[in-house]
Amino acid sequence: MQSYDVAIVGAGPGSLKAAEFLANNGKSVLVLERGKIIGKKVCAGGISLKNFKFGIPKSIMEKEFKRIIIHTPKQSTIIEHDEPILYTTSRVALGSYLAGEAKKAGAVIKTECNVTEITENTLKIFDRHENDNKQIYFQHLIGGDGSASVVRSYLGLKSHAFHQAYQYIIPTSSSNTTINTSNKKDGLFNDLELFVDANKFGLGYGWIFPYKTTASIGSGCDLAPEMQKYYPAAKLREKFQQWFTKEFDQKYNFAQKEFQAHTITYGYLGHKFGKLGNIYLIGDAAGFSSSLTAEGIYQSILTGLEVAKQIVDPKYSCPEIQRLIAIKKKEDYYYKLFSHPPFVRNFFYEVVGLLLKNKKFAGKVMGKINRY
Ligand SMILES: Cc1cc2nc3c(=O)[nH]c(=O)nc-3n(C[C@H](O)[C@H](O)[C@H](O)COP(=O)(O)OP(=O)(O)OC[C@H]3O[C@@H](n4cnc5c(N)ncnc54)[C@H](O)[C@@H]3O)c2cc1C
Repeated sequence: MQSYDVAIVGAGPGSLKAAEFLANNGKSVLVLERGKIIGKKVCAGGISLKNFKFGIPKSIMEKEFKRIIIHTPKQSTIIEHDEPILYTTSRVALGSYLAGEAKKAGAVIKTECNVTEITENTLKIFDRHENDNKQIYFQHLIGGDGSASVVRSYLGLKSHAFHQAYQYIIPTSSSNTTINTSNKKDGLFNDLELFVDANKFGLGYGWIFPYKTTASIGSGCDLAPEMQKYYPAAKLREKFQQWFTKEFDQKYNFAQKEFQAHTITYGYLGHKFGKLGNIYLIGDAAGFSSSLTAEGIYQSILTGLEVAKQIVDPKYSCPEIQRLIAIKKKEDYYYKLFSHPPFVRNFFYEVVGLLLKNKKFAGKVMGKINRY
């Protein structure tokens, strides 16, 4: 049986950052990823400024946005900011960079390995490369395996709050003949755009996140039972399809478009478990994503790094996780505060839309968003 100080299930951003830190601090680390390509994940790839504190290079970003257009049902507001509000990257580029750093530090990363069984010190895996079942011994286990985590299931935990997000990836390059460019207004799909309208998106929002030659047009909705009264999830999916078809597909005739859907877990479940206190959950597996924005890359990296620090030094108390939990509590409060009928929520959006036309107010809001 192979033996490692730390086994990590899933090769998401937090797992890879944890692997790099652990290997750099003398731990033997094995990362097991069931996919063939590291980083291939349904995601809009929006990277907020706070992610750069983890050393992610700007060179892997596809686009940088200093302005954002916010659409409410009755108005559109353009916010120009003196520093970038958001970047977009491909998740494969991010995964490849983080995996490279983890490997350089000495971590072993295996793709096409599905974790099938877990005990308090062992993992059973099926290695598709070698068409073989294997058993791995670990001292510590990190579940970084996303919103449908097998490590979370092993611990007997069920996620109680999650968003369902949908997106179409569409081509935008002018050299790409699949888009009807005669219909394409100048600048369309070059800007970062957010759409808030409770009748269309419920408690979530619609977005356009452009990359170099493609863009993500998407929206998310809430699957939590208490949210279903005014915002039934099934209807929101239907409304997303209608919005995409009417506002985009019928206008621009995308010959190529790829529909994708995935869940995002935002209900925090705890992060340290096991009789031996040797099993951790990070990122979406633990429900660390934001209820308000559904952002989860930053939360994944931050929590991966924190638990890695605690594995290296058991006295380390994970203060950044405690800070994140406090922020999440506030976010949940604001999120639920406005879970009123759609007309109340839309009234609120119109007021905020008007306020954001004031440059000083908009600058303050943008600064705050980027610095938590
Ligand atoms: C449509 C959409 C748009 C989004 N847009 C953004 C955005 O713009 N910005 C942002 O910050 N967040 C965004 N998110 C959220 C973000 O994608 C997630 O919160 C984030 O990826 C969570 O990271 P993670 O490391 O916890 O898990 P993941 O990134 O999901 O990684 C988990 C990994 O574990 C692997 N795995 C799962 N089960 C097993 C198993 N049994 N054995 C081995 N491996 C396994 C998976 O293949 C995967 O590679 C979006 C999500 C969706 C659905």
